[in-house]
Amino acid sequence: MTKLYLAIPCYNEEEVLRDSAGKLLNKYSTMMSEGKISADSRIVFIDDGSKDRTWEIISELHTENPVFQGIKLSRNRGHQNALLCGLMTLKDKADAVISIDADLQDDINTFDEMVAKYEDGCDVVYGVRSKRETDTFFKRFTAEGFYKILNHMGAKVIFNHADFRLMSKRALNAFSLYKETNIFLRGMVPMIGFKSDIVTYERSERLAGESKYPLKKMLALAWEGITSLSIQPIRMITWLGGIVFGISLIMIIYSLVSFFCGWTVSGWSSLLCSIWAIGGLQLLAIGVIGEYIGKIYMETKRRPRFIVDKVLDDNEQ
Ligand code: UDP
Ligand code: MG
Repeated sequence: MTKLYLAIPCYNEEEVLRDSAGKLLNKYSTMMSEGKISADSRIVFIDDGSKDRTWEIISELHTENPVFQGIKLSRNRGHQNALLCGLMTLKDKADAVISIDADLQDDINTFDEMVAKYEDGCDVVYGVRSKRETDTFFKRFTAEGFYKILNHMGAKVIFNHADFRLMSKRALNAFSLYKETNIFLRGMVPMIGFKSDIVTYERSERLAGESKYPLKKMLALAWEGITSLSIQPIRMITWLGGIVFGISLIMIIYSLVSFFCGWTVSGWSSLLCSIWAIGGLQLLAIGVIGEYIGKIYMETKRRPRFIVDKVLDDNEQ
């Protein structure tokens, strides 16, 4: 039976926490009585330096029922870091960990399917939203644009998948080899490989309270996603340099023709050529330097170069 842990980052969630905990407990009890998860499965809240009563509520829940556990961060470090803390702390205790937001916008009834897929041999099971009707138009537009831009920029993410996913102990151990500090989990998890699958669900509205992801934080997350996963923006400079330099060649021809036809005032041709050529060359040079900086950047992450999935050798029966 699967020993399932939940990792739930919470930041100022006093309004939803009790409600969510009740729903999760119900779900867990049902799954336990149906024999889908083991009796020592746990629900773990990670308090991301909340300023309200979040931690008190987590402590109360823990005293009321040991199925609830808590981890308190020393200060607010953001959703991604709080979640990472949860995953890395729980990887040695659980068979599999599901990460989910405290507001339960993601459907907890997909737990069964996720666990079934895990037992079927999947190491990562992504929760994917089928619809976004409950989001405001603005949220939907910005969020879907966000996935598209990320993919164009070379950060491969699963479309409409946020941080609701199941990861096996094996996947978490592989993930722990990624030591980088700028993290964008949903872009990094697909990098580890292994057998994975998706489950789809309809995202509902926040139980209570308001989104802890205002536009500013969303933009910061998008920027973090692009810059921590890809050096595509640097490459765009090289391209731009090439294009500008190409234009400069056309301008040189044009100004020389103008010069020989006597259409110009003196000094115009040389000025025009230098401006375009120098501009293009500078951009190209910055792009080339940028390529190397990008390489250095990727090297400093010291990512694992490979992760072994299966081995057939003498020990294999
Ligand atoms: N969260 C966090 N630290 C932060 C901001 C958010 O741990 O600095 C948590 C929050 O408590 C919630 C999850 O991240 O469990 C997602 O936040 P929210 O539901 O507000 O985001 P949205 O669903 O609006 O994108
Ligand atoms: Mg939410």
